Formats: sequence, structure tokens, C-alpha cells
Amino acid sequence: MKLTIHPYRFPFRSPLYITGHTFTDRTGLILQLNYSQKTVWSEVAPLPGFSEETTGEAEQWLRDNRYQIEQCLTYRNPVTGLDGFSSAPPSVRFGISALSHLTEAQNSHQSLSRYLNPDADSSVSVNATLGMQSPEEAVKSIADFYEQGFRTLKIKVGRNIQADSDLLHRICGDFPQLTLRLDANRAWSFEESVDNLKRLARFSPEYCEEPLRSPTTESLAQLKSRSPVPIAADESIRSLSDAQSLFENNAVDILILKPMLLGEIECIKEIVQLAGTHQVDCIFTSSLESGVGRLITAHLAAAFLDHHRACGLATGSMLSRDTISDEQFIQSGNFLLPDGPIQPEYPKQGES
Ligand SMILES: [Mg+2]
Repeated sequence: MKLTIHPYRFPFRSPLYITGHTFTDRTGLILQLNYSQKTVWSEVAPLPGFSEETTGEAEQWLRDNRYQIEQCLTYRNPVTGLDGFSSAPPSVRFGISALSHLTEAQNSHQSLSRYLNPDADSSVSVNATLGMQSPEEAVKSIADFYEQGFRTLKIKVGRNIQADSDLLHRICGDFPQLTLRLDANRAWSFEESVDNLKRLARFSPEYCEEPLRSPTTESLAQLKSRSPVPIAADESIRSLSDAQSLFENNAVDILILKPMLLGEIECIKEIVQLAGTHQVDCIFTSSLESGVGRLITAHLAAAFLDHHRACGLATGSMLSRDTISDEQFIQSGNFLLPDGPIQPEYPKQGES
């Protein structure tokens, strides 16, 4: 067993604004595990503004514990040997746990999704995301997405309700077959949320993510009871206990799960199962990490989700470089899961 850590820094095609900071590039770590002439790939990529740990801290943790991780993954059944890493940051727990499951999957000659669930679908429906653009540019982009086969579109709202409403009116007129979902990224007060969601309800959005500026479980529950648009939590769910609290208070209709930020695969599975018992659907999305992490996330979506809502996994086009590009998998708005192992474009073959 040999674990190699490859740091990456890939520029975004255009700067990204996250929680008050502008980011020009995405950093992360590609994990390469070599054993018995086989290789599996995983990723650790904390997201600034969302994760508590930095990429540098995650890398240090991995380098400090590399020997123990290699020992642990050498056990006959590596998945059971990971309990000792519960103090690792979430992105590290995700990356190591994926390595462990990928090793098991490869040893049993199955894809990760089929190993986790023999009945897993071989593809996952994915949505396109509209960037911050002028209405004319937006309509052009949507026409491109539609042509490519996307049928679900995520739209950022929250800067100006009149402009949001005008844009949605135009999109619904030009593309009536599209399913629209909204993300307000905590732009509105409680009263604004109620008013704005009532106003936008006529466009029948699938849901709105994170309307409230300073949400609590209680305020989300109150909003849910008054909103004609289903309410989704994204930033509000970072752990199993967050999820439990949201469910117990009947505070959300939909959960947006970013596996990279949640931790080990077992925890992600538990959240999805718990959501199911509360009739809450989960959507898996990337954390804008590279293709290695997006591919793992797509396998988890295929294994754990039993609905056909689109997942937010078509985010590779935001990066100007990648480990595995979206074009390898995404066709007609679907992420097609490969059966066998994939060789990333970065790190270059032989580089370790
Ligand atoms: Mg969101």
C-alpha cells in the first residue's frame, strides 16, 4: 500500500464570489493509492467559506497520518478499519473513506455505486447552473444548455427581486419544458423570503435553497409552513446532527448534500436514509472540486438516491484545468457512470 498526495491549484474560468471573498482558483489534494499493481484515486478539497479546515491543514493531517492510513487500508476489510480517523476534518474523512470503499469495489470487480448498492442506476440526471449574466446572455446560455440536453436549471436569485422575476418570466416563456430551481444563498430576511417566494411561486420552481439571511431551524420551519415554494437547506446542513435537527422540526422539504463537506460515506448514507424516513429528498452536489471528487459523488448519488431529481454535478466547466473533465461523462444532461477505473489527466501518468 502506498498513498501519494498530489496537491493541485486549478484556476476558475471566471473569479468566484463565495461568502464575501473572491476566489480565482480551486485548490485541493488528489489521493493516489497503489496496491498489488492496482490504483485507486480519491480527493480531499475543503471549500473556502463552507469548510472549517483549509487545504493546507487537510494536507498536513494526511501527511502526519499517512503511515496509519496505509496500515489501515491494508486490512483485509479496510472499510471497518477507519474508526480511528474520526478526529480528521470532514474533507479528509470523505477522501479516506472513498479510498477505502473504492479499494473494496475494485477488489470485487464492481463500480463504486454497484458495490454500495447492487441495484444502483448507471447514470445520474444532472442540472445546469446559470451564472451571473445579463438577461440576454442568460437566455443564450440556457439555449446552449437546452441544446446539450439539460432539463433542470439552477438559477441564483436574491440580488433584485424585480430582475429575478423578469428573468424567470422570460425563461418560462422561452423554455417551458425546463425544471427551474432557485438558490438565494441567504439573501433575504424572513418577511422578504415570504413575500419573494409568494411572488416567484407562479413560475413553479422545484425548490428554493437557503432563502433566509440568518436561518435557525425554527425560522426555517416557520418559513416552510408559509412558503408556497418548497424550501431546501444547503449551507444549513454540515453534519448528521444538523440533518436530525432539521427533520425533527419539519424545517425543510429538500436537503442539498455536498459529500466532500460532510465526511465519511457511512455518514452520508445515514443522512439520506434518515431523510427518507421523513419524506425529504436529498440532492447531491459537488463542492466545485475536481473531476476525481465529482466522479465519486456521482457514484454515491447513483447508489443512495432513489428519485430522479437532477444533481449538481456538472460543475467542471467552471475550472480551466481538471483531473477528469465533464465531457468524459456528461451527455444529454446525464452523468454516465463508468464501470471500470478511470485514469485522471492530472497527475500525469508515472508522476508520484
Ligand atoms: Mg446552494
